[in-house]
Amino acid sequence: MAQPTPHIRAELPKIRQLDEAAINRIAAGEVVERPASAVKELVENAIDAQARRITIDVADAGKTLIRVSDDGHGIAGPDLPLALSRHATSKTDGADLLDIHSFGFRGEALPSLAAIGRLTLTSRVKDAEEAKLLTVEAGRAHPLRPAALSAGTIVELRDIFFATPARLKFMRSDRAEMMAISDVVKRLAMAEPATTFVLNDVSDGGVRQVFRADAGQGELFDVVMQRLSVVLGREFAENAMRIDAERDGIRLWGAASLPTFSRGAAVAQHLFVNGRPVRDKLLIGALRGGYSDVMARDRHPVAALFVDCPAELVDVNVHPAKTEVRFRDPGLVRGLIVSAIRHALMQEGHRSSRTVAEGVLGAAQAEPAGARIYQMPLGTSEHLPRHFTEPSARAFAPAAAVVGPAIPAETEVRADQPLGAARAQVHENYIIAQTPDGLVIVDQHAAHERLVYERLKRQHDARNVVSQALLIPEIVELPEPDAAAILAVSEDLAALGLVVEPFGGGAVAVRETPAVLGQVNAAALVRDIADELSDQGGSTALRGRIDAVLSRMSCHGSVRSGRQMRPEEMNALLREMEVTPSSGQCNHGRPTYVKLQLSDIERLFGRS
Ligand code: ADP
Ligand code: MG
Repeated sequence: MAQPTPHIRAELPKIRQLDEAAINRIAAGEVVERPASAVKELVENAIDAQARRITIDVADAGKTLIRVSDDGHGIAGPDLPLALSRHATSKTDGADLLDIHSFGFRGEALPSLAAIGRLTLTSRVKDAEEAKLLTVEAGRAHPLRPAALSAGTIVELRDIFFATPARLKFMRSDRAEMMAISDVVKRLAMAEPATTFVLNDVSDGGVRQVFRADAGQGELFDVVMQRLSVVLGREFAENAMRIDAERDGIRLWGAASLPTFSRGAAVAQHLFVNGRPVRDKLLIGALRGGYSDVMARDRHPVAALFVDCPAELVDVNVHPAKTEVRFRDPGLVRGLIVSAIRHALMQEGHRSSRTVAEGVLGAAQAEPAGARIYQMPLGTSEHLPRHFTEPSARAFAPAAAVVGPAIPAETEVRADQPLGAARAQVHENYIIAQTPDGLVIVDQHAAHERLVYERLKRQHDARNVVSQALLIPEIVELPEPDAAAILAVSEDLAALGLVVEPFGGGAVAVRETPAVLGQVNAAALVRDIADELSDQGGSTALRGRIDAVLSRMSCHGSVRSGRQMRPEEMNALLREMEVTPSSGQCNHGRPTYVKLQLSDIERLFGRS
């Protein structure tokens, strides 16, 4: 560089040892980014102290006050100053950092917090005569004092960043900071379902409860599910698949949503490694991989997954905030997640979202539930006056309903056929089937698309795709690069049952198509595959992308809406759905059927 920089001075720079307070402020920069990180450290300490109940009070989104109270084992009076000194911890002797079973182990949080705010530590251990209190302000400790506290520990942090005001400038709105705090508390609450968590906003002297989760009871899995339904919502619990798998000493368990229950962003994916909430690209990517077949690219599953493994298989000492981990064998964990999700999807594949059905009910209910103005005296429903039927019937009955051939009611409804017996086809696309305890509405187009896709995949996996030759090859004109892209993968396409040949210029000749697709518009099929290839980018290798091409193909072979089906055809479709993996949703993650329980229907009519 031509210009001398202002940092270079004439005299030799002097090296000096920084004092303890400065060192702690520097460490705090890494550990305490915002009030939510202080909350995280303090709540983790309470969990490490085996607390059964943890209360978090914050004022002004944590900027003026964060107070965490617990009923854990406490800190002995003489140890209080030690707890506040750097690299002092009761959780490891430092010999084996791969053998960590607590959230903390670095002995950094309390001294860091004491370096940037006003920290008061009050604690009482079992059988102690009295509680002790220690206050530190910007790194300077006051003498130990007696205090009133029956058991456990209270850590109070006032005016965070008052000693490092530059940080305050980086704070976002109170709303955003409060949200971050509540996210931290909720994540830890999922990790510790047997502990009660209460988060209060105590700004301006008031007390407003922001979040509360009571300690669950019963079997571990039930306790976890109770907690997940408090944190992620009851709807998640109702639309979740249970995950439980193990490979080479690594266990994966928890709950993940049915494909029909998804979000527009990956915000509700919670992963825990040996009980520690982590953000990990590898694990999130694996989750996406598990759903790749059943969810559109812009939809995201909701999940809470717990990876439990011997401590030595994972390194948690990667990041000061300990939100990242490193597995000794990342491929193993990835594979475990992908296969566990796929397995669950297969097991529960024909199950569709219950929330979808509730949405339908919501739309069909003319009055808010509970209003009950349509309640009829029992026994008179056959003589329902006309006007009673109108409001709630509106949602179901547009003027020109097209009803297909009705099926004799004698068709047996069997309990071992969850999708029931077909009763009618309406609007030339919806099959109405009766089950022992309700009815099922199937979107025949969406369902058939999924069945064709699964059949194609099975045939392809068995290297046995049956194709049918066209009597006259179909010539398809394409933009030249598209034709080139298709021809570049013609061998792979042939293995999928689609035989194409060059026909000069931008044209290709289609000679054979996959038999399961039936009568198919070859030109539209080829164009769609060309689109898929260009979506996937320039690579000519189809391997790994075959599913996407198969999925495109199956759209073409599906029973289009508008086709009338015979009763045997409808029943055959239902039976095939019951045994086909993932048949509860189409290739784009939409439900293929909705189930209404008889009790739901009765509710609709105010009968329950
Ligand atoms: P670390 O958690 O990494 O050990 P901290 O600075 O967070 O480091 O805490 C230092 C020590 O203070 C802990 O090891 C623990 O012994 C004690 N401690 C902190 N918070 C609590 C608490 N809420 N209950 C009991 N002991 C605590
Ligand atoms: Mg700690």
